[in-house]
Amino acid sequence: MGLRRVTFLAAAVAASCVLVPAAGGANAARPPLVWLKGEGNYTKSHRHPESIDKIVIHVTEGAFWGSVRWLQSPRAHASSHYIIARNGQIVQLVHLSDIAWHAGNWRVNSHSVGIEHEGYTYGSEGFTDAQYNSSARLAAWIARRSLMPIDRKHIIGHAQVPVPGGGRGGSSHHTDPGPHWNWRRYIRLVRRYAGLEKLSVTPQLPPGTLRGVVPWRAKVTGGVTSVEFSINGRVVWIDRRAPFAFAGGRGLNTTTLGNGRHVLTVHGIAGPGRYDIARTTIVVDNKAFALTSAGARPWTMRRATSKPLSPGIWISRKTTSGCSRSMVVSASTPLPAWPTTSTPPTCPSR
Ligand SMILES: [Zn+2]
Repeated sequence: MGLRRVTFLAAAVAASCVLVPAAGGANAARPPLVWLKGEGNYTKSHRHPESIDKIVIHVTEGAFWGSVRWLQSPRAHASSHYIIARNGQIVQLVHLSDIAWHAGNWRVNSHSVGIEHEGYTYGSEGFTDAQYNSSARLAAWIARRSLMPIDRKHIIGHAQVPVPGGGRGGSSHHTDPGPHWNWRRYIRLVRRYAGLEKLSVTPQLPPGTLRGVVPWRAKVTGGVTSVEFSINGRVVWIDRRAPFAFAGGRGLNTTTLGNGRHVLTVHGIAGPGRYDIARTTIVVDNKAFALTSAGARPWTMRRATSKPLSPGIWISRKTTSGCSRSMVVSASTPLPAWPTTSTPPTCPSR
């Protein structure tokens, strides 16, 4: 991520150091834990906190110390950042900046933290209060450290991890944490440990694929006094007056974004260290202006930019192979999206 994101994180960290009597008195401190590092069963990396965007919940299917020893061993070909015992004790096996092998999906492993819980997915004994509390304290601390929204899109079960070829549960189609894991209780606890008991921010956008200008608002509770609106990690608007809306309620002009997926974030701030973050992915699909092949000249008019050009102007740009493609655009055509209906690539003669 860019500099802005780093500054943003630094500001949030600085803000969270100012201790104010928050509701519930929680300030998401790291719970006590024991380090028992494994070797040879994880990928050494240099992950920054903000590159972690998921917490994956697992169940060991075995007793605590046996599971700890197994997940420390290179023979397991698996690992997890943390394991939580039925008595609430936490053992850390892999550093957060390294990639543990827990989700059965490389993309998810690269951007997540794995937390194992001693127990059995289909065991009727379920999970203990001590486990829920320790795990939720830990998850709250990780989420705050990474500026991760605390919701079911970011705190997921192993069973939800997609499989690249189709299906869920990672490459081995695991189903943990299973029917005895109480998600409502867990998320509520994580939010409480993060100091979010009464505080919330929710993005409000029209459903489905978006085009043209769309309203983008933030619904808040619990004394939120300002909301930062970000697109793909960059703050684009700050509203300090309720009701909170992007661009003073004028809406988001999706033609200034490329067609495709974009991540929209709302960050509601109630005071030092008191904030909530929510994120949503939108799909933009603005139709390109009618295309003709007349007047196509390879690589002449101007390079593609994200600024709209005047109506009917031809633009060309080089593809990675050195060929160029051309299309005609209207004033409102979003240029980053390169329509498949543009001219076929013409390659320079060598
Ligand atoms: Zn699992």
